[in-house]
Amino acid sequence: MASMTGQINDFTAQVQTALFEPFRSVLADAASKLWWPVALLSLLIALVSLGLRPFAAKLLASDTWTSRSARNDYLILLINPVLQVTLLSFLALNYAIIGQWIAAALTWAGVHGQATGGGALLAGLALTAALFVADDFARWSTHYLQHRVPLLWEFHKVHHSAEVLNFLTVQRHHPLDPLFTTAVIGIVTALVNGVFIGLFGDHLTIATVAGANIFRVASNALGGLLRHSPFWLSFGGATERWLVSPAMHHIHHSSDPKHYDTNFGTALSVWDRWAGTIYFADGAPVTDFGVGEETQHFHSLTAIYLGPLQRVWPARKSNAAAEANR
Ligand SMILES: [Zn+2]
Ligand SMILES: [Zn+2]
Repeated sequence: MASMTGQINDFTAQVQTALFEPFRSVLADAASKLWWPVALLSLLIALVSLGLRPFAAKLLASDTWTSRSARNDYLILLINPVLQVTLLSFLALNYAIIGQWIAAALTWAGVHGQATGGGALLAGLALTAALFVADDFARWSTHYLQHRVPLLWEFHKVHHSAEVLNFLTVQRHHPLDPLFTTAVIGIVTALVNGVFIGLFGDHLTIATVAGANIFRVASNALGGLLRHSPFWLSFGGATERWLVSPAMHHIHHSSDPKHYDTNFGTALSVWDRWAGTIYFADGAPVTDFGVGEETQHFHSLTAIYLGPLQRVWPARKSNAAAEANR
């Protein structure tokens, strides 16, 4: 009985922590796009780029904050962390062990460096950059597959069903959608760490801002948060060859078929350029967001959470095929 009470208390504590998660990311998570210094700097960049009147008009447009799409964003923001610590907690894996295997394999092969002094400092900076680039490539490649593999697209569509972009849309996901990306990032991060530990030792320090990779924080401040904002901000062609502008992500969310399956990048646009999926933000601003006709299937929370599961369920799919063959 006592252990039952303990379990209920644990569960309640987990749910309370999860409910506080959105506020924690704003107040204390420097890696989050919603971290308050990043948000302030992003707003300042938008204000300076657009001028006060257009900035205020976009920011204060009631649709951005009160439309059905926006209200669903708020609910998803609160519900997903609770699902992650309760129903989906068994899916949380720790990939750090892979890094230890890589380092051990390198040691076994006779590679066991120990950088010291300036060498360790330089190696730490190289590790900071390598982790950022590897993370960005992992995000690009998994995002590419989320659009190209029908099973993954069913879940990713929830993110694309947003009809307005209001900062919090960054967290509008079906709870199963980010699992694939998180897993690949975990593995890639562990691989990079393992190689650096093998080559230079396990005492390297990466460059951080409040505990988060400095490149990640810079990229969030220079456009990361603004990608899902109501502001159309282009960097100009020369810069967009290297960096994804907020306007390029607006194109990624556009309901116009000519924009579909372009600009999968998070921070660096080089992956899209090399893959031929880049779409520069040199045209008129995108005004319609969503997945065309299908957007109507994502208006309620039930449709958002259960719709993708129903559509990928094998029995349902075979029934649908039988119906079609009749
Ligand atoms: Zn996408
Ligand atoms: Zn997006």
